[in-house]
Amino acid sequence: MAIGEFSARSGLSAKVLRTYAAAGLLVPAAVDSCSGYRYYAPGQLQQARLILLLRKAGIPLSEIAEFLQHPDPDTLQRWAEELDVELAGRRQALARARDQLSLPAADALPARHGGGRPVLAMAAGSAARQGSSRAVNQDALLVSPPLFAVADGMGDSPGGEIASRLALDTLQAAFTAPPSAEALATAACEAGRAVWQRADSDPALSGMATTITAVVVLDTSPRLRLAVAHVGDSRAYLFQDRELRQLTRDHSLVQGLVDADQLTTRQWRAHPRRALLTRALGLAPVIDADIIMPAVTGAARLLLCTDGLTAQADQAQLAAVLSAVADPGQAARNLAGLASRGGGDDDTAVIVIDIGRPDQQS
Ligand code: MG
Repeated sequence: MAIGEFSARSGLSAKVLRTYAAAGLLVPAAVDSCSGYRYYAPGQLQQARLILLLRKAGIPLSEIAEFLQHPDPDTLQRWAEELDVELAGRRQALARARDQLSLPAADALPARHGGGRPVLAMAAGSAARQGSSRAVNQDALLVSPPLFAVADGMGDSPGGEIASRLALDTLQAAFTAPPSAEALATAACEAGRAVWQRADSDPALSGMATTITAVVVLDTSPRLRLAVAHVGDSRAYLFQDRELRQLTRDHSLVQGLVDADQLTTRQWRAHPRRALLTRALGLAPVIDADIIMPAVTGAARLLLCTDGLTAQADQAQLAAVLSAVADPGQAARNLAGLASRGGGDDDTAVIVIDIGRPDQQS
């Protein structure tokens, strides 16, 4: 077919087709020696569509030409992983810019879905603090109502920060509507697989891993219900009727010692092997998250945090801030402040979420 028809059917302009041909892509099947007119074979339409997709993914023409000579799944996987790293780097840069300007991460975000109709009264605020002994913040947080999560990355730099960011980016991308505990469990599993694949494919990132504590607020009439997915020692707490309840249970050596009555909850903070986790995303291809589904009656406040906070503040101190500070963003910042006042040198990520039906809010 002539270049005009091929252009119309492939969606590529004649100018773009000439550029591609110069790069060795979609070379015309025939060129009229008199008029110089270019002709394409119908079979080239499929290749045109493939090139369009790869261009949409940002792949340079030279790499596409090479790939089409020898298409293989490893190259596609490598491109996907390079995107993960680039995305993580760009998110990190934005977070640093925000920190440098001392701006809050997110404040009083009204939760909306389904055509913009507010389903639940929900407001959230967050704070992140880089530990004094750290070159980069290895903790990450996600505020994407009704989905919220914190992650604490581990591994030689840059492994820790890549692991936590990659886990939360994957969690968000893999979490599908309608919100449910199943969707959360699947997304958490995908997050673990992404971290493991990345660690397994890059020797420089070998051994990187991350905690994850993620919650989705479910609108299950007549009560609200939370679905919590949890791996590691980051935590979720529920604050209601002036009482703070820890929803998650740490996957750590010291938690085992506390359970066996060999340590008190006071002693665990000072234990030299406090950071030793018995479960973390990235340590195996498939890591099962604990899933719990507490019901919530009336208005309540939810706290998600990494161990940078819980190692420095006890439950009474957390409850005091959650009780005294009405604005969730300010409460999150005050809690992150507790972590530094306690002399902590670890990174800290905190999210405070106010939930409840409008007619139940007090
Ligand atoms: Mg930590």
